Amino acid sequence: MNETKPLLEARNLTRYYEVSQGIFQPPAQLKALEGVSFRVSAGKTLAVVGESGCGKSTLARQVTMIERPTSGELLFDGFDLVNLSSQQLKEARQRVQMIFQNPFGSLNPRKKVGSIIAEPLVINTQLSKPEREERVRSMMGKVGLRPEHYERYPHMFSGGQRQRIAIARALMLEPKLVVADEPVSALDVSVQAQVLNLLMDLQQDMNLAFLFISHDLSVVRHIADEVMVMYLGRVAEYGAVEQIFQNPRHPYTQALLASTPHLNAQNRQQRIVLSGELPSPLAPPSGCVFHTRCPYANPRCSAEIPALLTLADGRQTACHGVEEGRI
Ligand code: SF4
Repeated sequence: MNETKPLLEARNLTRYYEVSQGIFQPPAQLKALEGVSFRVSAGKTLAVVGESGCGKSTLARQVTMIERPTSGELLFDGFDLVNLSSQQLKEARQRVQMIFQNPFGSLNPRKKVGSIIAEPLVINTQLSKPEREERVRSMMGKVGLRPEHYERYPHMFSGGQRQRIAIARALMLEPKLVVADEPVSALDVSVQAQVLNLLMDLQQDMNLAFLFISHDLSVVRHIADEVMVMYLGRVAEYGAVEQIFQNPRHPYTQALLASTPHLNAQNRQQRIVLSGELPSPLAPPSGCVFHTRCPYANPRCSAEIPALLTLADGRQTACHGVEEGRI
Protein backbone atom coordinates (compact mmCIF):
# COMPACT_ATOMS: atom_id res chain seq x y z
CA MET A 1 0.00 0.00 0.00
CA ASN A 2 1.11 3.54 -0.68
CA GLU A 3 2.90 5.06 2.31
CA THR A 4 4.03 8.40 0.80
CA LYS A 5 2.11 11.48 1.90
CA PRO A 6 -1.18 11.25 0.06
CA LEU A 7 -2.68 14.02 -2.03
CA LEU A 8 -6.15 12.78 -1.14
CA GLU A 9 -7.08 10.87 1.97
CA ALA A 10 -10.55 9.67 2.93
CA ARG A 11 -11.11 8.51 6.48
CA ASN A 12 -14.27 6.62 7.35
CA LEU A 13 -16.22 8.34 4.62
CA THR A 14 -19.93 7.69 5.05
CA ARG A 15 -22.87 8.90 2.98
CA TYR A 16 -26.48 8.10 3.74
CA TYR A 17 -29.51 9.30 1.80
CA GLU A 18 -33.07 9.59 3.02
CA VAL A 19 -35.36 7.85 0.56
CA SER A 20 -39.08 8.57 0.56
CA GLN A 21 -41.30 5.48 0.86
CA GLY A 22 -44.64 7.21 0.37
CA ILE A 23 -46.67 9.51 2.58
CA PHE A 24 -47.65 6.91 5.23
CA GLN A 25 -44.17 5.49 5.75
CA PRO A 26 -41.16 7.10 7.40
CA PRO A 27 -38.28 7.69 4.98
CA ALA A 28 -35.81 4.84 4.61
CA GLN A 29 -32.09 5.28 4.95
CA LEU A 30 -29.94 4.29 2.00
CA LYS A 31 -26.38 3.59 3.11
CA ALA A 32 -24.50 4.42 -0.08
CA LEU A 33 -21.06 4.63 1.54
CA GLU A 34 -20.15 3.07 4.87
CA GLY A 35 -16.83 3.90 6.53
CA VAL A 36 -14.67 4.01 3.41
CA SER A 37 -10.99 4.95 3.84
CA PHE A 38 -8.35 5.26 1.11
CA ARG A 39 -5.37 7.31 -0.05
CA VAL A 40 -4.26 8.59 -3.44
CA SER A 41 -0.79 10.06 -4.01
CA ALA A 42 0.30 12.55 -6.67
CA GLY A 43 1.09 10.83 -9.95
CA LYS A 44 -0.75 7.62 -8.95
CA THR A 45 -4.04 5.98 -9.88
CA LEU A 46 -6.50 4.41 -7.50
CA ALA A 47 -9.18 2.45 -9.33
CA VAL A 48 -12.53 1.94 -7.64
CA VAL A 49 -14.37 -1.11 -8.95
CA GLY A 50 -17.61 -2.92 -8.29
CA GLU A 51 -21.05 -3.50 -9.77
CA SER A 52 -23.40 -0.57 -10.26
CA GLY A 53 -24.89 0.35 -6.89
CA CYS A 54 -21.66 -0.42 -5.02
CA GLY A 55 -21.05 3.23 -4.08
CA LYS A 56 -18.55 4.25 -6.78
CA SER A 57 -20.55 7.21 -8.05
CA THR A 58 -21.43 8.35 -4.54
CA LEU A 59 -17.72 8.33 -3.76
CA ALA A 60 -17.04 10.46 -6.86
CA ARG A 61 -19.68 12.99 -5.77
CA GLN A 62 -18.03 13.41 -2.38
CA VAL A 63 -14.50 13.79 -3.79
CA THR A 64 -15.62 16.31 -6.43
CA MET A 65 -17.46 18.25 -3.70
CA ILE A 66 -20.84 17.96 -5.42
CA GLU A 67 -22.11 16.60 -2.08
CA ARG A 68 -20.93 16.58 1.50
CA PRO A 69 -20.51 13.26 3.28
CA THR A 70 -22.76 12.35 6.19
CA SER A 71 -19.65 11.78 8.28
CA GLY A 72 -15.95 11.09 7.92
CA GLU A 73 -13.00 13.12 6.72
CA LEU A 74 -11.82 13.98 3.25
CA LEU A 75 -8.41 15.63 3.19
CA PHE A 76 -7.07 17.00 -0.07
CA ASP A 77 -3.85 18.93 -0.60
CA GLY A 78 -4.12 20.75 2.70
CA PHE A 79 -7.89 21.24 2.52
CA ASP A 80 -10.45 19.54 4.72
CA LEU A 81 -13.03 19.16 1.95
CA VAL A 82 -15.87 18.50 4.38
CA ASN A 83 -15.61 21.86 6.15
CA LEU A 84 -14.66 24.41 3.50
CA SER A 85 -15.66 28.06 3.36
CA SER A 86 -17.16 29.07 0.01
CA GLN A 87 -13.87 30.73 -1.08
CA GLN A 88 -11.89 27.59 -0.19
CA LEU A 89 -14.46 25.45 -1.98
CA LYS A 90 -13.94 27.51 -5.14
CA GLU A 91 -10.16 27.06 -4.91
CA ALA A 92 -10.36 23.36 -4.11
CA ARG A 93 -12.77 22.73 -7.00
CA GLN A 94 -10.21 24.07 -9.47
CA ARG A 95 -7.74 21.44 -8.30
CA VAL A 96 -10.15 18.52 -8.63
CA GLN A 97 -11.63 17.96 -12.07
CA MET A 98 -13.85 15.29 -13.48
CA ILE A 99 -13.97 13.35 -16.75
CA PHE A 100 -17.31 11.71 -17.52
CA GLN A 101 -18.34 8.56 -19.28
CA ASN A 102 -20.23 10.22 -22.10
CA PRO A 103 -18.02 12.84 -23.75
CA PHE A 104 -20.78 13.97 -26.08
CA GLY A 105 -23.23 14.70 -23.28
CA SER A 106 -20.68 16.90 -21.52
CA LEU A 107 -19.82 19.07 -24.55
CA ASN A 108 -22.04 21.98 -25.60
CA PRO A 109 -23.01 21.19 -29.24
CA ARG A 110 -23.41 24.90 -30.11
CA LYS A 111 -19.89 25.88 -29.11
CA LYS A 112 -16.68 25.43 -31.07
CA VAL A 113 -14.01 23.19 -29.60
CA GLY A 114 -11.69 26.15 -28.88
CA SER A 115 -14.26 27.92 -26.73
CA ILE A 116 -15.36 24.66 -24.99
CA ILE A 117 -11.79 24.01 -23.87
CA ALA A 118 -11.28 27.68 -22.91
CA GLU A 119 -14.38 27.78 -20.69
CA PRO A 120 -12.66 26.99 -17.35
CA LEU A 121 -10.17 29.81 -18.07
CA VAL A 122 -12.98 32.27 -18.82
CA ILE A 123 -14.73 31.42 -15.54
CA ASN A 124 -11.73 31.13 -13.23
CA THR A 125 -8.91 33.34 -14.56
CA GLN A 126 -8.26 36.92 -15.73
CA LEU A 127 -6.36 35.79 -18.83
CA SER A 128 -6.87 37.80 -22.03
CA LYS A 129 -8.44 36.18 -25.09
CA PRO A 130 -5.10 35.71 -26.91
CA GLU A 131 -3.55 34.22 -23.74
CA ARG A 132 -6.46 31.80 -23.44
CA GLU A 133 -6.16 30.82 -27.07
CA GLU A 134 -2.46 30.12 -26.67
CA ARG A 135 -3.11 27.85 -23.67
CA VAL A 136 -5.98 26.08 -25.39
CA ARG A 137 -3.89 25.39 -28.49
CA SER A 138 -1.03 24.09 -26.37
CA MET A 139 -3.39 21.75 -24.48
CA MET A 140 -4.98 20.59 -27.75
CA GLY A 141 -1.52 19.53 -28.89
CA LYS A 142 -0.95 17.61 -25.65
CA VAL A 143 -4.17 15.62 -26.01
CA GLY A 144 -3.61 14.83 -29.70
CA LEU A 145 -6.05 17.29 -31.30
CA ARG A 146 -4.92 19.12 -34.44
CA PRO A 147 -4.79 22.97 -34.74
CA GLU A 148 -7.64 23.02 -37.29
CA HIS A 149 -9.94 21.33 -34.74
CA TYR A 150 -10.06 24.63 -32.81
CA GLU A 151 -12.85 26.03 -35.02
CA ARG A 152 -14.92 22.84 -35.31
CA TYR A 153 -18.03 21.71 -33.46
CA PRO A 154 -18.22 18.59 -31.23
CA HIS A 155 -20.54 16.66 -33.57
CA MET A 156 -17.77 16.64 -36.19
CA PHE A 157 -15.64 14.36 -33.99
CA SER A 158 -15.52 10.65 -33.22
CA GLY A 159 -16.16 9.40 -29.67
CA GLY A 160 -12.45 9.11 -28.94
CA GLN A 161 -11.73 12.64 -30.16
CA ARG A 162 -14.64 14.01 -28.14
CA GLN A 163 -13.18 12.40 -25.06
CA ARG A 164 -9.86 14.11 -25.90
CA ILE A 165 -11.74 17.45 -25.99
CA ALA A 166 -13.31 16.69 -22.59
CA ILE A 167 -9.90 15.72 -21.19
CA ALA A 168 -8.33 18.94 -22.51
CA ARG A 169 -11.06 21.01 -20.85
CA ALA A 170 -10.68 19.13 -17.55
CA LEU A 171 -6.93 19.84 -17.52
CA MET A 172 -7.01 23.56 -18.39
CA LEU A 173 -6.82 24.67 -14.75
CA GLU A 174 -3.93 22.27 -14.08
CA PRO A 175 -5.76 20.18 -11.49
CA LYS A 176 -3.91 17.89 -9.13
CA LEU A 177 -6.59 15.23 -9.00
CA VAL A 178 -8.83 13.96 -11.78
CA VAL A 179 -11.88 11.86 -11.00
CA ALA A 180 -12.47 9.78 -14.11
CA ASP A 181 -15.91 8.13 -14.07
CA GLU A 182 -15.89 5.26 -16.60
CA PRO A 183 -13.99 7.49 -19.05
CA VAL A 184 -13.56 4.89 -21.80
CA SER A 185 -16.57 2.61 -21.35
CA ALA A 186 -18.61 4.44 -24.03
CA LEU A 187 -15.78 4.14 -26.58
CA ASP A 188 -15.00 1.41 -29.12
CA VAL A 189 -12.56 -1.13 -27.75
CA SER A 190 -10.03 -0.13 -30.43
CA VAL A 191 -10.09 3.47 -29.18
CA GLN A 192 -10.10 2.67 -25.45
CA ALA A 193 -6.40 1.83 -25.32
CA GLN A 194 -5.47 5.07 -27.11
CA VAL A 195 -7.41 7.18 -24.61
CA LEU A 196 -6.04 5.21 -21.63
CA ASN A 197 -2.49 5.66 -22.94
CA LEU A 198 -3.16 9.37 -23.37
CA LEU A 199 -4.38 9.60 -19.75
CA MET A 200 -1.26 7.81 -18.53
CA ASP A 201 1.04 10.12 -20.58
CA LEU A 202 -0.74 13.19 -19.21
CA GLN A 203 -0.51 11.76 -15.69
CA GLN A 204 3.25 11.50 -16.02
CA ASP A 205 3.65 14.94 -17.62
CA MET A 206 1.47 16.75 -15.09
CA ASN A 207 2.00 14.51 -12.02
CA LEU A 208 -1.76 13.96 -11.90
CA ALA A 209 -3.49 11.73 -9.39
CA PHE A 210 -6.43 9.75 -10.78
CA LEU A 211 -9.41 8.35 -8.96
CA PHE A 212 -10.50 6.01 -11.71
CA ILE A 213 -13.99 4.60 -11.46
CA SER A 214 -14.70 1.58 -13.59
CA HIS A 215 -16.55 -1.70 -13.78
CA ASP A 216 -14.16 -2.97 -16.46
CA LEU A 217 -11.33 -4.88 -14.84
CA SER A 218 -9.23 -5.18 -17.99
CA VAL A 219 -9.17 -1.37 -18.20
CA VAL A 220 -8.33 -1.12 -14.50
CA ARG A 221 -5.44 -3.52 -14.83
CA HIS A 222 -3.98 -1.34 -17.57
CA ILE A 223 -4.07 1.94 -15.68
CA ALA A 224 -4.24 1.44 -11.89
CA ASP A 225 -1.52 1.41 -9.24
CA GLU A 226 -3.95 0.40 -6.54
CA VAL A 227 -7.45 -1.06 -6.65
CA MET A 228 -10.31 -0.71 -4.20
CA VAL A 229 -13.10 -3.24 -4.67
CA MET A 230 -16.45 -2.10 -3.28
CA TYR A 231 -19.64 -3.96 -2.55
CA LEU A 232 -22.85 -2.30 -1.32
CA GLY A 233 -21.07 0.82 -0.09
CA ARG A 234 -18.29 -1.00 1.76
CA VAL A 235 -14.69 -1.83 0.91
CA ALA A 236 -14.30 -5.56 0.22
CA GLU A 237 -10.63 -5.52 -0.74
CA TYR A 238 -8.02 -2.81 -1.28
CA GLY A 239 -4.46 -3.35 -2.45
CA ALA A 240 -1.80 -2.95 -5.12
CA VAL A 241 -2.94 -3.81 -8.63
CA GLU A 242 -0.75 -6.99 -8.84
CA GLN A 243 -2.08 -8.26 -5.50
CA ILE A 244 -5.67 -7.83 -6.60
CA PHE A 245 -5.23 -9.36 -10.05
CA GLN A 246 -2.73 -12.12 -9.34
CA ASN A 247 -3.95 -13.27 -5.96
CA PRO A 248 -7.40 -11.91 -5.08
CA ARG A 249 -8.37 -12.95 -1.55
CA HIS A 250 -11.90 -11.66 -1.06
CA PRO A 251 -14.51 -13.95 -2.64
CA TYR A 252 -16.18 -10.96 -4.30
CA THR A 253 -12.91 -9.89 -5.95
CA GLN A 254 -12.41 -13.49 -7.08
CA ALA A 255 -15.90 -13.52 -8.57
CA LEU A 256 -15.38 -10.21 -10.40
CA LEU A 257 -12.13 -11.49 -11.90
CA ALA A 258 -13.69 -14.81 -12.85
CA SER A 259 -16.40 -12.96 -14.76
CA THR A 260 -13.87 -11.10 -16.93
CA PRO A 261 -13.05 -13.77 -19.54
CA HIS A 262 -9.58 -12.83 -20.80
CA LEU A 263 -8.37 -11.91 -17.32
CA ASN A 264 -9.72 -15.17 -16.01
CA ALA A 265 -7.61 -17.08 -18.54
CA GLN A 266 -4.46 -15.71 -16.88
CA ASN A 267 -5.93 -15.94 -13.44
CA ARG A 268 -5.78 -19.44 -12.02
CA GLN A 269 -7.87 -18.67 -8.97
CA GLN A 270 -10.78 -20.92 -8.16
CA ARG A 271 -13.69 -19.84 -10.29
CA ILE A 272 -16.54 -18.26 -8.36
CA VAL A 273 -19.68 -17.48 -10.29
CA LEU A 274 -21.71 -14.59 -8.93
CA SER A 275 -25.25 -15.79 -8.47
CA GLY A 276 -28.27 -13.65 -7.73
CA GLU A 277 -28.76 -9.93 -7.96
CA LEU A 278 -27.02 -7.28 -5.94
CA PRO A 279 -29.24 -6.85 -2.84
CA SER A 280 -31.01 -3.51 -2.40
CA PRO A 281 -28.87 -0.98 -0.53
CA LEU A 282 -32.10 -0.01 1.25
CA ALA A 283 -32.16 -3.43 2.91
CA PRO A 284 -28.57 -4.69 2.95
CA PRO A 285 -27.97 -8.22 4.25
CA SER A 286 -26.95 -8.59 7.90
CA GLY A 287 -23.35 -9.36 8.82
CA CYS A 288 -21.17 -9.51 5.73
CA VAL A 289 -23.19 -7.78 3.02
CA PHE A 290 -21.86 -10.30 0.48
CA HIS A 291 -23.05 -13.39 2.39
CA THR A 292 -26.19 -13.88 0.25
CA ARG A 293 -24.00 -14.51 -2.81
CA CYS A 294 -20.85 -15.96 -1.28
CA PRO A 295 -20.10 -19.70 -1.67
CA TYR A 296 -17.94 -19.61 1.49
CA ALA A 297 -20.56 -18.05 3.78
CA ASN A 298 -21.02 -19.62 7.21
CA PRO A 299 -23.27 -18.64 10.17
CA ARG A 300 -20.74 -16.11 11.44
CA CYS A 301 -20.89 -14.35 8.06
CA SER A 302 -24.59 -13.55 8.36
CA ALA A 303 -24.27 -12.43 11.99
CA GLU A 304 -21.11 -10.35 12.18
CA ILE A 305 -19.80 -7.57 9.94
CA PRO A 306 -16.21 -8.46 8.97
CA ALA A 307 -13.58 -5.88 9.87
CA LEU A 308 -11.26 -4.61 7.16
CA LEU A 309 -8.02 -6.33 8.14
CA THR A 310 -4.54 -5.61 6.82
CA LEU A 311 -2.90 -8.84 5.66
CA ALA A 312 0.82 -9.65 5.75
CA ASP A 313 1.30 -8.40 2.17
CA GLY A 314 -0.19 -5.00 3.04
CA ARG A 315 -3.54 -5.31 1.25
CA GLN A 316 -6.80 -4.95 3.16
CA THR A 317 -9.63 -7.47 3.04
CA ALA A 318 -12.95 -7.62 4.87
CA CYS A 319 -13.74 -11.33 5.08
CA HIS A 320 -14.19 -13.77 7.98
CA GLY A 321 -13.12 -16.65 5.74
CA VAL A 322 -9.77 -15.01 5.01
CA GLU A 323 -9.32 -14.14 8.69
CA GLU A 324 -10.12 -17.74 9.69
CA GLY A 325 -7.67 -19.09 7.09
CA ARG A 326 -10.32 -21.07 5.18
CA ILE A 327 -10.05 -18.93 2.00
FE1 SF4 B 1 -17.99 -14.74 2.17
FE2 SF4 B 1 -18.16 -14.76 4.82
FE3 SF4 B 1 -16.05 -13.66 3.61
FE4 SF4 B 1 -18.42 -12.47 3.51
S1 SF4 B 1 -17.21 -12.81 5.33
S2 SF4 B 1 -17.01 -12.75 1.83
S3 SF4 B 1 -19.78 -14.22 3.38
S4 SF4 B 1 -16.66 -15.83 3.59
